[in-house]
Amino acid sequence: MDELIRSAPSLANWRRRPSGDGMVPLSELARNPVALTVSDDGEERSLSAERGASGKVWLTCSCASSTAEGWCNHRIDLLCLRYGATVGTSAASKQAFEQIVTGTALGHAGRSADRALKAFADCLAAFDAQRPANVAGRNLGKFTDLVSDLAACASELEDALGTLRRLLERD
Ligand SMILES: [Zn+2]
Repeated sequence: MDELIRSAPSLANWRRRPSGDGMVPLSELARNPVALTVSDDGEERSLSAERGASGKVWLTCSCASSTAEGWCNHRIDLLCLRYGATVGTSAASKQAFEQIVTGTALGHAGRSADRALKAFADCLAAFDAQRPANVAGRNLGKFTDLVSDLAACASELEDALGTLRRLLERD
């Protein structure tokens, strides 16, 4: 296994901690790669997941925001094992996908980004609901608190999406 890891060409660009928590060995994956389809507003997107010898997972999506942003909600949903938008995907394909991503750095990054997106959305909603109408009296302090929370959530989201984007790069 050490030999395999050392000879992996992508290792130089990919500094994943070698952790094995719950990761199914490459040789025991039911299918690799595996293709899935999701439906978004009636349009179908094709996704493909493949694990390499180094443990890196390539997860691609054919949607436009994927190309523009380097990540998309379709991929985050699947990394969080949410299959609600999948179409024509067999139980065997879902199981094969889970085997590929579980315990990997990408699986972890997908869940972190999902948590950060939710935290930011909650924070933004709290800001909208609680912001004072003006800056009179103690209101300015309330603004400071709300904006501080929002800034912290935005910063965490930026970090989480940055990590996810890096791991989704094709190299
Ligand atoms: Zn997508």
